[in-house]
Amino acid sequence: MSDGRALARAFLEQQRLLGGDAVILSDSRPLLPDSRTVGQSERGPSHPSPTVRQSDRPTPLPPPGLSFDPPGGDLFATDPVAQARSLAAIAELVASCVKCRLCEGRAHTVPGEGPADARLVVVGEGPGRVEDETGRPFVGPAGELLTKILAAIELPRERVFICNIVKCRPPENRQPQYDEIAACVPYLFRQIELIKPQVILAMGGTAAQTLLNTKQALGALRNHVHRFRGIPVVVTYHPAALLRNPNWKKPTWDDVRIARRLIA
Ligand code: SF4
Repeated sequence: MSDGRALARAFLEQQRLLGGDAVILSDSRPLLPDSRTVGQSERGPSHPSPTVRQSDRPTPLPPPGLSFDPPGGDLFATDPVAQARSLAAIAELVASCVKCRLCEGRAHTVPGEGPADARLVVVGEGPGRVEDETGRPFVGPAGELLTKILAAIELPRERVFICNIVKCRPPENRQPQYDEIAACVPYLFRQIELIKPQVILAMGGTAAQTLLNTKQALGALRNHVHRFRGIPVVVTYHPAALLRNPNWKKPTWDDVRIARRLIA
């Protein structure tokens, strides 16, 4: 298969997963992203290969946005979170944490999962019911969608560190409150400090506002490359919101492509 056709196949598969637009081929016929047209093999070797006009263009980077640089731990810190030397050590601290009222209703803490050398860190809001039951982040329908989104940018879920702003489930899936976020966020900040990712993908308003220390709405925070301690932060919708509003799939796809471009 030629490079062009391989590109077309990959792009159309991504579009099928994420609900994107049709692609215009060189013969000016729109090709809808379904699996039959992706294959192309029935057209035979003599048929001209499709030229994708939109898909293989690099996504332009949006302008710089906010920058948040909270103080980290130092050599003389006595706080055990600042002293934690590994993700496992942080998970242990989280497992016994009672710093906020969210400890009262949890079945499991959900510290996050993924490799310590992940190039991408995905941050959501907080664990839901299935996450609380399993102790794992982003499982259930929203998690499945996140897995597909990551696969579409050729980053298998296993190579990404996935976590939330708060590590225990808020009752009835309500938004975490300010004091709960303030109590929990040192765990996340230390996780990021240890991983040193190339990019952070903030999914949803709570993740974006916390990482950027702002009250700006998610819509205003999208389409910028922000910085958290110098690390680029791309803001997009939470997968659970995409399940409620499929119209946000296309903008989410645009956002994750920007995040992908920032990863070496
Ligand atoms: S949400 Fe965070 S701060 Fe609150 S009890 Fe759980 S781990 Fe501790």
